[in-house]
Amino acid sequence: MKEAADEAVDEAVDVVVLGSGAAGLVAAIAAADAGASVALFEKSDLVGGTSAMSGGVIWMPNNHHQGGSGIDDSREKALAYLESLSLGQIDSDMAATFVDTGPEVLRYLEERTPCGFRLIATYPDYHPEHPGGLPSGGRSLDNELFAFTELGEWADRVRNHRGTAPLMLIETPLGGATSMPEGAVIGERIKAKQNGMGLGLVGALLRGALDRGIEPEMGARARHLVVTEGRVTGVALETPSGQRTVSARQGVIIATGGFEWNEELVRTFLRGPMTGPAGSPDNTGDGLEMAMAVGARLGNMRNAWWVPVARVPGEEVWGKPHVHLILLERTRPRSIMVNGQGVRFTNEAGNYNAMGGSFHAFDPSKFEYPNQPCWLIFDHEHKRRYDVAGCPPGDQAPDWMTTADTIEDLASKLGLDPEVVVATVTRFNEHAAKGQDPDFGRGESAYDTFNGDQTLPGVEATLQPLDVGPFHAIAVESGALGTNGGPKTDTRCRVLSSHGGVIPGLYAAGNAMAAPTGMVYGGAGGTLGPAMTFGYIAGREAAAG
Ligand SMILES: Cc1cc2nc3c(=O)[nH]c(=O)nc-3n(C[C@H](O)[C@H](O)[C@H](O)COP(=O)(O)OP(=O)(O)OC[C@H]3O[C@@H](n4cnc5c(N)ncnc54)[C@H](O)[C@@H]3O)c2cc1C
Repeated sequence: MKEAADEAVDEAVDVVVLGSGAAGLVAAIAAADAGASVALFEKSDLVGGTSAMSGGVIWMPNNHHQGGSGIDDSREKALAYLESLSLGQIDSDMAATFVDTGPEVLRYLEERTPCGFRLIATYPDYHPEHPGGLPSGGRSLDNELFAFTELGEWADRVRNHRGTAPLMLIETPLGGATSMPEGAVIGERIKAKQNGMGLGLVGALLRGALDRGIEPEMGARARHLVVTEGRVTGVALETPSGQRTVSARQGVIIATGGFEWNEELVRTFLRGPMTGPAGSPDNTGDGLEMAMAVGARLGNMRNAWWVPVARVPGEEVWGKPHVHLILLERTRPRSIMVNGQGVRFTNEAGNYNAMGGSFHAFDPSKFEYPNQPCWLIFDHEHKRRYDVAGCPPGDQAPDWMTTADTIEDLASKLGLDPEVVVATVTRFNEHAAKGQDPDFGRGESAYDTFNGDQTLPGVEATLQPLDVGPFHAIAVESGALGTNGGPKTDTRCRVLSSHGGVIPGLYAAGNAMAAPTGMVYGGAGGTLGPAMTFGYIAGREAAAG
């Protein structure tokens, strides 16, 4: 912690925002609209953090887009749903604040920025059969396409690992589509630099910030908070032109994302193995370390937004190993996951975040995590029909996949007991042929079939036997979209002090804060919904000082 007397202050604004992901951009916009002068600092040379790499889907219960579509949602239902999943981890005041404020944030962004949202009408919640869950969807929203021509020179300064994203999520299999727009339509969109998903969201929010005169300062890494008589009054930055201190008259908002790329913090805090961070590599927990240094109380530190991932040898992005999210691969028919003992260990079609728990199961006798890593095994018909970890559908199996003519030989190549794996596949196949999974209930939840092959009827969308050789396998490991533990806040996003009360002048939002929904990913968009809601609250509260 630095006392102000140590620092030569180079400039002063009302509100300093650290980080230009969705949480930081919404915070900056909201603070400016509340009358504050705002400075936004971004460590990277690119705007947008993991938010720009994301699907951009936003989970907002009880939102105004539900109107007239027969969706039976309410504040009470949403709160009952979160409470049913809380396992004692969710602060009910934080949950109520999220549910009550989220819809206002959507309207506000639609009215005051170029953001546009559209219901993904059929996307079920991630635990749709829980009390208050919506099996037919209604809480997940997609982004309208946003033309990057609107961003001028900023168009090339947004974090973008795809090159172009000319689709909305509802036009892809992840959003439930069974066919894509025609090539000519996509071509027109590329020409017009129209992007959807996380790129579209960040592009529109960035435009909103620029329209308010807020130009993110790039390559500016916040290193520590300045404290004057117990109040956070500024931040010291490392910039390409040297160290600088900026004073914040009203408040500093930490929106620096999670700590998923900081191996030491991952080892220290997370409840189990996490070997595949999937988001922006600049998320190294700087916000967490700054908050700890000024005595912040911490919360939700064991958790992350878990996701199974796979690596393709040699693939890198921004100098770090690139991981593929394994979502549809394990949900579509003719594939299963087996662990190091050659047996299934979970409903493969379950949601990725809750599945983190399966990867963290511990065998006390062997003193090991038997499910980490595991193997995705699929038959050739699956390979022929579907994309697997970025390998397009077709007959040709790349050399990074393990392939064999029989399940027995495949197991041997993987170093697994062939007898056990053959028995596992035989049992799965017998039941899958009847549309059943008595072991793990795959196909029973509305969620399981949504991300399956929607061209197939009923549970066949996820359950069919693996019976066409050759057979293939890839390794799957425990990854994270981001971590979600950090400084604990009150409902006004004020960071709480380990000595009691709040730390005056300090706010947190997004993955940098202790997640308001605990370990719960309510539905598609379950991280961005809260991140944007609490970014909005943090911006307004900081502006009010
Ligand atoms: C492939 C993928 C798809 C996803 N899809 C979805 C989805 O559809 N819906 C959903 O809800 N969630 C999704 N997620 C998760 C979601 O993207 C994140 O949870 C969310 O973007 C976090 O937002 P944030 O603003 O808190 O952090 P980020 O967007 O990561 O932004 C944090 C920013 O802070 C900057 N920063 C870090 N340290 C400093 C510092 N010291 N000083 C200044 N700046 C700093 C970082 O460089 C970064 O730009 C997805 C994640 C991935 C990887």
